[in-house]
Amino acid sequence: MIYWDYAAAAPPHDEVARTVEQLMRLHYANPSSLHRAGAEAAALIERARQVSAAALGVLPGEIRFTSGATESNNLAIKGAALQYTGRGRHIITTEIEHPSVYESCLQLQAMGWEATFIRPDAYGMVNPSEVAAAVRRDTVLVSVMHVNNEVGSVQPLSEIGRVVKSANPRTLFHVDGVQGFGKLPGGPRDFGADLYSLSPHKIRGPRGTGLLYVKEGVQLFPLLSGGAHEGGIRAGTENLPAIVAGAKALRMAAERRGEFVSRILPLRNRLLAFLRGIPEFTVNSGEEGAPHIVHFSYPGMKGEVMARQLEQLGMLVSTRSACSSRLAEPSRVLLAMGRGESTALGGIRISFGDEHTASDVGALEQALLGAIKALKIVEGGMR
Ligand code: PLP
Repeated sequence: MIYWDYAAAAPPHDEVARTVEQLMRLHYANPSSLHRAGAEAAALIERARQVSAAALGVLPGEIRFTSGATESNNLAIKGAALQYTGRGRHIITTEIEHPSVYESCLQLQAMGWEATFIRPDAYGMVNPSEVAAAVRRDTVLVSVMHVNNEVGSVQPLSEIGRVVKSANPRTLFHVDGVQGFGKLPGGPRDFGADLYSLSPHKIRGPRGTGLLYVKEGVQLFPLLSGGAHEGGIRAGTENLPAIVAGAKALRMAAERRGEFVSRILPLRNRLLAFLRGIPEFTVNSGEEGAPHIVHFSYPGMKGEVMARQLEQLGMLVSTRSACSSRLAEPSRVLLAMGRGESTALGGIRISFGDEHTASDVGALEQALLGAIKALKIVEGGMR
């Protein structure tokens, strides 16, 4: 079996898995406890904060640990909206955000906030001038993702950050950086972001931990009530093993980005060219997309059917993002990009990791040809 679903979850580095196990056994003390074992645990978390901050190019005091990027996104959006109601009740996002952003905005809308959803172009690109035009005096927050998790489109974030601030300097800018970090240059400071979410398990770190960069001076209303952990915005005993191992994964991803891209981009480009040559497929990823994601559709054929066929041929792929892949509806992202319903139902996402080779891509290409043939035989038989 070849695993092509790194954008959903990447296998942890050996060093990451070892660190989690060692820390679970050795540093089980609660970092809030006043005894020596607690102080040691607290020191490890502060060290992980420094390592994470260095990987992002920000201050340690600007890093908050959460349970994952879903929580980071919820906290950034709802925490900012609830904190800054005095500034207004309008938020802006895009139609192609991850559900943890999109649904947070819908929830605020149901609670009386106004939400503007910006539509992307046919390649999943958001136009900065459309964002700028939507910003108002009462816009509290703009949230735009770095890389779309379904089709891999890369948003012009530095420009979006700039136009948001020039339209309204008090509007906060949040970036969901989950699929961009370790794959593309740029961090929160480059984008002019006030808030930036990350998830270590997408970059070969452990699950159950996430990060939220909160720019110095920005306040968030806590969504969890409890102790005064994480600067008072995220109550709950810290997941020490995952936090420390996650910081290691962040450092490794930042250090190895250049190497990753130079190995993976040619493989992605080869697969894109192959897919474009197959008349049955519609390629949904643009030329300028992220180096690790390729998305295509087999219009008229449900993505699940194609994915199951590919699995029989030894390839584990996904139909879209993991969080939405069990939905039977057409992809919201593809519909927003202007694709028809049958294309939006027939999507397949291939996502690369650092372990893939040219021979893996060759095997995938053969499997794709085999899957088309098998599905045509089944279709023919059903007529
Ligand atoms: N944002 C994006 C763009 C994602 O791809 C994902 C995961 O698929 C998330 C947020 C949520 O991350 P987590 O799995 O850490 O909750």
